Amino acid sequence: MHKVETGKPRERAFQDWVWIPIFAFFFGSITVMALVSRLPSLSSSRTHLRKPKISSVNPVSYIQCSTSPFTEKHSIERYQRDNWLYKNITSTKLQQQSSFCPLPSDSSSIRDYDIALQLPELKKLLQVLKEKRENEVGIGKRGPGNVFLVGTGPGDPELLTIKALRVIQSADLLLYDRLVSNDVLDLVSPDARLLYVGKTAGYHSRTQEEIHELLLSFAEAGATVVRLKGGDPLVFGRGGEEMDFLQRQGIAVKIIPGITSASGIAAELGIPLTHRGVANSVRFLTGHSKNGGTDPLFVAESAADPDSTLVIYMGLSTLPSLASKLMCHGLPPNTPAVAVERGTTPQQRTVFAELKDLSKEISLHQLVSPTLIMIGKVVALSPLWKPSTFGDLAFAEKKTF
Ligand code: SAH
Repeated sequence: MHKVETGKPRERAFQDWVWIPIFAFFFGSITVMALVSRLPSLSSSRTHLRKPKISSVNPVSYIQCSTSPFTEKHSIERYQRDNWLYKNITSTKLQQQSSFCPLPSDSSSIRDYDIALQLPELKKLLQVLKEKRENEVGIGKRGPGNVFLVGTGPGDPELLTIKALRVIQSADLLLYDRLVSNDVLDLVSPDARLLYVGKTAGYHSRTQEEIHELLLSFAEAGATVVRLKGGDPLVFGRGGEEMDFLQRQGIAVKIIPGITSASGIAAELGIPLTHRGVANSVRFLTGHSKNGGTDPLFVAESAADPDSTLVIYMGLSTLPSLASKLMCHGLPPNTPAVAVERGTTPQQRTVFAELKDLSKEISLHQLVSPTLIMIGKVVALSPLWKPSTFGDLAFAEKKTF
């Protein structure tokens, strides 16, 4: 095994009746994880947290650093920074305290409490949307807004498409997931509003149904809503479900593709996903198991093809079971493999190993989500794959383009 750590420098009149379904909706089912108002008039603090750019990287410092290049880990800080929700409450105290913002102990009341806290801000937001729409189209030309499902790529903002950039910069309202990078969010217009609808480990997860209803409410209020998703919205991004739901409600949905993490990370490491004479196909697989167990969903037998490249999304917990099944079904134990955490971001960490050793090496180096796994002979085509240094740790600086 050798391990490579790389770093990278890296609409609208708004009728009063609209409030009825919106309030019913918000009181009834939705809690929004965070509303980040970027208008000075609506928020005392509007600066979006951005990690400083890094030009030279000490990989070790990033291994120990708890910050994430993604929005996933910043929710509580974001609440505090924007003077929005959970003032002066740290994540660990969130469930218990406080004199500032006492929270009920059972989870359903916490959700109601969320709604109460957020309603004034949501009201202001919808009012601004109303005024903007009136100015733009005049009374009489009302209709529902649009929803854009936008892929933001694996993290590096330079991997955005020009179309995605244009939509992101001109959006009124953006809802974003946990794997949208902070660097991408920095491109959002200062006048736009951001809503976090991602999942933070352990609590306040938005269900997919809640996200559907939230998108629908804003679109019905005439807003042009941009839904940001990490990677590509149609690759393990549940974009198809959101598109289907909204279209059935009469809302126009436009999809802007993003670079899926498989492509972004393969390019980063110099791994051709297909290669004449080496891999004649590539399969994108989910590592998810049915009920959160350790068995992957798919049939390892059909995936054990030495002439194909396997890319496993969300595969950290099921890899041990998958690897042994693949080997049982004939994939050679010495098949080259790689696991890449936080790919294409300044905190990227990479572990190369033969298939038989990959799980062990991943635990040794404590890789965390998001991590992408690639298995196949093409992995050895990476200039970073150094079989001669097997057994040693090898660090490689990332090339700067
Ligand atoms: N729509 C996304 C995938 C979402 S599923 C896409 O097209 O890439 C989430 C999984 O994607 C993560 O568990 C991880 O396996 C992978 N992933 C997404 N971004 C990643 C990144 N920057 N580095 C490593 N893996 C990533």
